[in-house]
Amino acid sequence: MINETQAKSILRKHKKIDSWFLTHYGLNLYRGCIHNCAYCDGRSETYRVEGDFGKDIEVKTNAIEILTKELDPARKRSPMPKSYMMLGGGVSDSYQPVEKKYELARKTLELIHKFNYPVHILTKSTFVERDMDLIKKINQQSRAIVSYSFSSASDNISKALEPGVSSPSERLASIRKFKQNGIACGMFLMPIIPMITDNPKMIEDTLRKGKEAGIDFVIFGTMTLKEGRQKDYFMNVVDKFFPDFSTSFDILYEHNDKWGGVNPDYYTSASQIFDTIATKLRIPKRIPPYLYRNFLNKNDLVVVMLEHLDYLMKLKNRQNPYGYAAYKISQIDQEIKNLSIKEISGINGIGPVTAKIIEEIIYSGTSKYLENML
Ligand code: SF4
Repeated sequence: MINETQAKSILRKHKKIDSWFLTHYGLNLYRGCIHNCAYCDGRSETYRVEGDFGKDIEVKTNAIEILTKELDPARKRSPMPKSYMMLGGGVSDSYQPVEKKYELARKTLELIHKFNYPVHILTKSTFVERDMDLIKKINQQSRAIVSYSFSSASDNISKALEPGVSSPSERLASIRKFKQNGIACGMFLMPIIPMITDNPKMIEDTLRKGKEAGIDFVIFGTMTLKEGRQKDYFMNVVDKFFPDFSTSFDILYEHNDKWGGVNPDYYTSASQIFDTIATKLRIPKRIPPYLYRNFLNKNDLVVVMLEHLDYLMKLKNRQNPYGYAAYKISQIDQEIKNLSIKEISGINGIGPVTAKIIEEIIYSGTSKYLENML
């Protein structure tokens, strides 16, 4: 059922730049998702999506009117920090069937183009190709990334777990099309589903196909499973299609993490399998610097690169100071480019080695260390 509503605001500002998507702002034009993936955590009570998830959908019919005000730089007292506008993710897919009627995603892209922001789109639907013309214009003007999420490249598994979306083969073909049109593309290899899509052969097959299609990067994540609606629905689907695995899911998700995270030991071992394969295939495991270094301000650039270093070191099981250093930099009010190396080293948690990396990022726009680790 379609439920038309009026939203008070659309843009959601993050406390600091999000280094997964390279954005300060997320936006949801719809709430709920007809795609109805079995594992979708938008179904969890945590997000308070009303109605029957997978069947009911809320359409924010005044979204464009509000976004016109929220995105217009002339209406801002201080400029919005430049970063990708994130279209998609969260509790809905912007390119689900209802978009054919309301065209909120397309009209949002028109505004993003008008006000000259970069955009990063995340979807599971090849319907995004409808907007190829606009995405190309945005890409030429500022920058656009189109990312598809995958739990694997298996069309059969997708049919069982992702009944409403384009098949993985169609998503891969679509990546090829965007790449042929000069658009950068990402693969969000998430969620990896324990026992169903997590074996090394399947991960390698998915990454290899992504690489052949031309992806610029891959972002990896395991499935979350929150108690309540999400877990109940998912377990019903598992019982139907993969009856041998039910007990093991209970064990892997029994530790009561409020975010529904998988057992940490499992997460570490799955991440290491991913790391080994992505490294072998030479696919960057975070968005690479050439896709953002020209427009992020220096503070954001430093935060993103340090957080990426932190992630890459942790994948190798190496403790490191970069995550904390990124947090400290995200808290300062001054422009980091105006600080001397001595002042940067004086920030609590930033030692001389980290300060040197920060200095390189400020003056060259990148870090060779990061580029080598990607
Ligand atoms: S496409 Fe995304 S938001 Fe929609 S049901 Fe699937 S996982 Fe959830």
